[in-house]
Formats: sequence, C-alpha cells, structure tokens
Amino acid sequence: MSYKERKQVLATDEILIVNEYAMDGGEALARCPHCKRVLGMELPVLGEQFQDKVCGGWLEVSHNARRKKIEHVTATN
Ligand SMILES: [Zn+2]
Repeated sequence: MSYKERKQVLATDEILIVNEYAMDGGEALARCPHCKRVLGMELPVLGEQFQDKVCGGWLEVSHNARRKKIEHVTATN
C-alpha cells in the first residue's frame, strides 16, 4: 500500500480535538485521534493544531486539555 493510500485509509480531513496530553522532557505527547498512535508535539500545544506525519490526520489540542501522567497517554489498554 502506498503512503497516499494508507493516508486515505487512516485519516479524515476533519480536525479532531485532543483533550489529554502528557509531557516527556521538552515535548508533549498525545494520542493521535485518527490512527491512535502516540504523537510527539513541540510546545506550546494548547489551542494549537498539529498534523500527524504518519497518518496525515490533523488534530487540535483543546485549550482546556488536561495534562495526564505519561503512562496514561501511552498505555495501549
Ligand atoms: Zn495519526
């Protein structure tokens, strides 16, 4: 499957809101709402939009997003 095809399978054009993040050193981690992988983001993140380079999906970290423990965000449950 090509990158473009994979992108079409996983991502939508919709910008999905992220309500939880964690801090790991100098970057923030959140789970991509499109493909569910853990994504690293440069600060600041609150109210900012990011694109997951793997699935191509866009997300916006809510202004009210809660900082969680890193285990909470990275746990695969
Ligand atoms: Zn993704």
